[in-house]
Amino acid sequence: MADKKVEPDSDSALHLTPGTPSSPSINPSLRKARRRTLLSVGQYVEGILANDRVLLSQAITLIESTRPAHQELARQIVEACLPHAGDSIRVGITGVPGVGKSTFIEVLGSRVTAEAHRLAVLTIDPSSLQSGGSILGDKTRMPRLAADPHAFIRPSPTAGSLGGVAGTTRETMILCEAAGYDVVFVETVGVGQSEIAVHAMVDFFLLLMLAGAGDELQGIKRGIIEMADAIAITKADGENVTAAKQARGVYRNALNLFPPPSSGWRPKVLTCSAVTGDGMESIWDTIQTYVEQTQQSGYFEQHRREQARHWMHQTIEQALRSRFYADDVIRKALPAIEQNVLNGEMSSFAAAHKLLSMYRGEDED
Ligand code: GDP
Repeated sequence: MADKKVEPDSDSALHLTPGTPSSPSINPSLRKARRRTLLSVGQYVEGILANDRVLLSQAITLIESTRPAHQELARQIVEACLPHAGDSIRVGITGVPGVGKSTFIEVLGSRVTAEAHRLAVLTIDPSSLQSGGSILGDKTRMPRLAADPHAFIRPSPTAGSLGGVAGTTRETMILCEAAGYDVVFVETVGVGQSEIAVHAMVDFFLLLMLAGAGDELQGIKRGIIEMADAIAITKADGENVTAAKQARGVYRNALNLFPPPSSGWRPKVLTCSAVTGDGMESIWDTIQTYVEQTQQSGYFEQHRREQARHWMHQTIEQALRSRFYADDVIRKALPAIEQNVLNGEMSSFAAAHKLLSMYRGEDED
């Protein structure tokens, strides 16, 4: 990086002495403006297919952009990448903060890349939507994978609605697959909002849980346990081994109470330690067995098609919503009508219908 900056510019009298750290830019917008130069759809797609990580990252930034021109370009890039996508194992990984997600993903991910797979780690972080801060999303949580040439880590954007972010992540996944990443981890914080969205975009949903005395089923909603294809009790090392085994028994019993899932796969409960490595191998084995079994039964493909239908509806909803709120008439009318609802002068239903009529051009007053 530093080497590139000291390249003498033939048109410029200004030169940096090699080895001198460059000072901050006097006009930062100059660099930004240069970076914003857009390429053609073909150039992005060619770069992505050749696993050019810079172009892949830039294309993902276009997916995340709210600017209509960027969105249109991103749409075309995604469409062109679609025929090259899909050939991967998509794994959703969730768990409460502190359960050990990043440590787990580092260890499991390094195992995956050591087996000559290429791994993309994408994150959906609902905490960032409300606070602007982020529980996940920081690359430095996974320094080993961040430095691994066979891994690509991409944190979720910190703005937008959960629906928007989830859609963005799904499109990002498609670009990553087209770039040759054949294993995709989609990580989310287990706080109850984003699991459903992640479940709807992955083949295998893994729930990480801590062993806790007597309160095993608390903190994580029942519905999320029902979605899991496997539960891994983390930190099963040292003094925690016995508690982890006990928790495994509790979850096995809990899962037995659910009707058998349509995949034909009975969810597994395992223990693991990212610190000692115990149990990590069997987690990756479990994921692979699941993929083999469901591919043979036809469920894998059927599930993906159902997900595609789901995402069609999600995309429509998202597009309609953003068009509605971007509409000039709506933007002008919304604050006053919102105020009417807040004052109790108008019901939420009447207000919504009025706005929808205005959007359709049926109500001009
Ligand atoms: P996250 O918030 O879910 O991403 O959790 P982290 O991966 O940051 O881990 C939270 C804490 O648990 C850290 O202090 C880790 O060192 C610790 N931790 C993670 N995995 C293990 C494990 O397998 N065994 C033990 N003993 N500690 C772990």
